[in-house]
Amino acid sequence: MHASQPRCHRVIAIDGPAASGKSSVARELSRRLGFVYVNSGAIYRAITWHILQKKIHPEESDRIAGALRVAGITCRLQDNESRILIGGVDPGEHLRDDPVNKSVAGVSQFPVVRQLVAKKLHEDAQSHDLIVEGRDIGSVVFPDTPYKFYIDASPEVRLQRRAAQGERDEIAIRDRADSLRPVSPLVIAKDAHVIDTSHLTIQQVIDQIIGLLKKMGLPI
Ligand code: C5P
Repeated sequence: MHASQPRCHRVIAIDGPAASGKSSVARELSRRLGFVYVNSGAIYRAITWHILQKKIHPEESDRIAGALRVAGITCRLQDNESRILIGGVDPGEHLRDDPVNKSVAGVSQFPVVRQLVAKKLHEDAQSHDLIVEGRDIGSVVFPDTPYKFYIDASPEVRLQRRAAQGERDEIAIRDRADSLRPVSPLVIAKDAHVIDTSHLTIQQVIDQIIGLLKKMGLPI
């Protein structure tokens, strides 16, 4: 599935598996470049949180679709970051609750959910330059952007990073589900620059990305 990409501002796509360092890199890049930071995983998490609040089972795609038709999902800008409101509520810290960690990959597999998130991201790109992190940003949501990065790290390093954040998050299970789903799986886009962050600091990753963006002609 390729989402049709309407005319939009510049988009830097940062994809990769869980705990690979995408968020730290994307946030710092947004600060350096002045592009708006969008964490697409947070949108999938907000939807999952909402579904669980409504006591809908994460496998009931019809009820999920029904709930999303009436939910009212909006994004607002705060400190150059796009934050999601669902049903007028900012889920805030709940995005990283254990039940959300467990169910988000299941909820994210449904085309109705993916289409909704892609639509929100395309709307954001109508009005701002964006740095978007996720799983399918370069491969599906913004296939035409020339600025694509795939941020990876060894499974051991990723586990250590998650543990250091004090979270119970079965990242291997999530990565497997994200990679094997039929619709918009986690893949390395053909034209993405792959960066293994296992032995790099955030600053070193940022320096590499900025060097590559300059080479690609982005005025920085
Ligand atoms: O990035 P984060 O780990 O918070 O993403 C949570 C989950 O949201 C992922 O495991 C995946 O199931 C889903 N996701 C996705 N596509 C994206 C971003 C996140 O399916 N572009």
